[in-house]
Amino acid sequence: MTDPLGVVNGMRVGRTLLTQEAIESRVSQLAAEVSARYAGKEVTLVSILKGSFVFLADLTRRLTIPTRVDFLGISSYQGTESSEDIRWTTRLTSPVIGRHVLVVEDILDTGRTLSRIIDHLRDQEPASLRLCALLDKPNRRVAPVEADFVGFTIPDVFVVGYGLDYDGWFRQLPYVGVLERV
Ligand code: 5GP
Ligand code: MG
Repeated sequence: MTDPLGVVNGMRVGRTLLTQEAIESRVSQLAAEVSARYAGKEVTLVSILKGSFVFLADLTRRLTIPTRVDFLGISSYQGTESSEDIRWTTRLTSPVIGRHVLVVEDILDTGRTLSRIIDHLRDQEPASLRLCALLDKPNRRVAPVEADFVGFTIPDVFVVGYGLDYDGWFRQLPYVGVLERV
């Protein structure tokens, strides 16, 4: 694919759902909310690979509290359908026992992935455990998971850009667009 907006498996990026400006402004607000909630504390941001890397980069640079960053890699998604099959691809590099942990995720969909991640982290006895998701699709929820901080609530459409991919492509787009069939 030579064009960042090209066609992949008969799919392409259609209408813009969230502009670059809207995302920038909301991420700044979220950073202020997070900083206020953790005032006087240190936070370990646990970024879920790969989709959250762009959001993490923007969010973390606007936080006014001391933070450390770690990564968890989980592979659970094939194409556009959520699957039950989950595999760790990256593990934490430092223990989170006694730490304030904020999970940073690109999108909360069925909640299956995040519920596994929460169980995994809770087992390690952090001082507190909260979730920050850029996007939330509440209509798709299967597992009982809610985020403490949400950027945007969106309808049940498959989106790409700002870190979110389709088969690995389109993460580089500075906005969030809806994937559509050509
Ligand atoms: P869940 O376990 O909540 O169903 O799935 C969460 C994961 O599915 C997200 O971290 C993301 O990787 C993927 N996902 C869910 N919805 C979308 C979407 O609309 N676009 C993209 N690119 N990924 C999605
Ligand atoms: Mg993800």
